[in-house]
This record gives sequence, structure tokens and C-alpha cells, in this order.
Amino acid sequence: MPYDPNNIFARILRGEIPCVKVYEDAKTLAFMDVMPESEGHVLVVPKEDAQDILDLSADGLSAMMATVQKVARAVDKALAPDGIQLRQYTRAAAGQTVFHVHFHVLPLWEGAHLAPHGKVMVEAAKLEPIAANIRSAL
Ligand code: 5GP
Repeated sequence: MPYDPNNIFARILRGEIPCVKVYEDAKTLAFMDVMPESEGHVLVVPKEDAQDILDLSADGLSAMMATVQKVARAVDKALAPDGIQLRQYTRAAAGQTVFHVHFHVLPLWEGAHLAPHGKVMVEAAKLEPIAANIRSAL
């Protein structure tokens, strides 16, 4: 399947669809997942057009992972979770639903239930204060 330039994350990267931004640099963007599985669920995408991790250049991968670590450290500092899951799904059979490569940074608290993957929409006004807290810890 070729890369679809109209996938949701490509449209977010072009500014055609809003997002609640956490961090941006020349090669990557991090923003709040609009259907978070836990409070503080952030997505990290490279700006390079790549459907999944198998298509991504080594340079894009290295930029994405540097941002994943930066955001995970900020999430840890801002929200003090018990643990952090870093998830990446490659292809639909593995659970991928948006076909622009991304990592999930998912803070976890012992005993807390996760919301289902990509199902429960949260309004931007509720995500913004969480994003501000994470941004202040970057
Ligand atoms: P995947 O299943 O591809 O690993 O994850 C896609 C993620 O993108 C899901 O967690 C889903 O909640 C999130 N998502 C889908 N559409 C949007 C959107 O329009 N904006 C944001 N911020 N997240 C989205």
C-alpha cells in the first residue's frame, strides 16, 4: 500500500487539522492523542512521509526516537506515572489505524484501567491543560 498523503497525521503536520501540541522541532511533532488510553497519552510523529517504521529512513527514526525520549521524560516529570509504555504498531494486522508512522507515549498508574485503543474522544479543552503541564516539563 503506498503512503496516503491525506492520512490524518499528514493533515495535522500540514496544519489542516488542529492538534494539541506538546513539542515540535524540524523533524518531529508530538501532540496529545485525541482518544487517550490514559491521561497524558502523547503521539510522536516524524515529519517524513513514512507509513510505518519499515519505510522510515534511519535519520527519521533517530529523530523520532530522540523526541520519544524527550517527551517520555517530560511526561514522567509532569505526571509522575508508575510506568510508561512506548508503543508502535506496524500495519493493520498489528493494530495500526493511522498509516503515518508514530509512537505512543502512554503513562500508566498501577491499578488504573486503560481506555480502549482509539475509541473515546476527549475534547481539546480537556487535553490542553495536560499538554501545558507536559510542555512545562520539557
Ligand atoms: P494506531 O492505532 O495507528 O497506533 O494509533 C492511532 C492513534 O491516533 C490512536 O490512538 C487514535 O486515538 C489517534 N488518533 C486518531 N485520529 C486522531 C486525530 O485526529 N487526532 C489525534 N490527536 N489523534 C488521533
